[in-house]
Amino acid sequence: MQDTTSQLDAATANTAPDEVRRPALSPSRASDFKQCPLLYRFRAVDRLPEQPTKAQVRGILVHSVLEQLFALPTAERGPERARALLGPTWQRLSAEHADWLELFAGANDEPTATESWLASAEALIDGYFELEDPTRIEPEACELRVEAELASGMLLRGYIDRLDVAPTGEIRVVDYKSGAAPREIGEAKAMFQMKFYAVVLWRLRGEVPRQLRLMYLSDKQALAYAPDEAELRRFERTLEAIWDAILRAGKSGDFRPSPSKLCNYCDHKARCPAFGGVPPEYPGWPEPNPGDESALDRAD
Ligand code: SF4
Repeated sequence: MQDTTSQLDAATANTAPDEVRRPALSPSRASDFKQCPLLYRFRAVDRLPEQPTKAQVRGILVHSVLEQLFALPTAERGPERARALLGPTWQRLSAEHADWLELFAGANDEPTATESWLASAEALIDGYFELEDPTRIEPEACELRVEAELASGMLLRGYIDRLDVAPTGEIRVVDYKSGAAPREIGEAKAMFQMKFYAVVLWRLRGEVPRQLRLMYLSDKQALAYAPDEAELRRFERTLEAIWDAILRAGKSGDFRPSPSKLCNYCDHKARCPAFGGVPPEYPGWPEPNPGDESALDRAD
């Protein structure tokens, strides 16, 4: 199988392929390290390929449809139009990432499997329309790549699903959650990610975002949170501590496994010493660009 992560990094980054980018921390990789340093190593340092799941690919599809929806004139952003975008968007994505079709191969009822999967994506789009009316929203940007340097010199980088800015200047960060991960596991991770974006925007624009809004499309529930400056200052210190720990581990190669119930979702269990496996030899710290996140990371 192709290295989906690297492939998508290249496919989605808004930078020239030969542009040298400084090492930066992304919310996905920071979460990985917090969850399990060895998982971070496998993803960010060894860059081992992972098999995408149907739920992840469906997340990319749904995020793409919502992005296209907001590019339409306001009056055209209805549910019918959004549903109509699903088929052509899937055709385009599956042509760009032929390996994703393997997810549906092998089943005797392959066309039916794809159809029912597309129907589940449609249900997420319908879930979105139960949460808000896109004709009443004019985002400043969708799928926005953001990068900010902290006073310590540490670089934060990530992608924001949607940024809404009120005429009065208040900022709202919106993230769509389309995944099948259990809500109790996903929520702390999602809030970590949102605070990460809040720090980036605060440092970029000098304004603390008024609201962080998580939209759970399958549950049809939204969660709103209002961060304050003192909290973001503390969170910034947390991020710096994580980055310091990553750099220390990177130097020594000492990335320890940290088993938890999340190991059930880990692609690397077979090579993990916590489960009797043997990791590949440490390849050394990758320069200049460890820790990027892929579209699959962002479409959770
Ligand atoms: S199986 Fe668990 S402990 Fe091992 S690398 Fe994966 S997340 Fe870490």
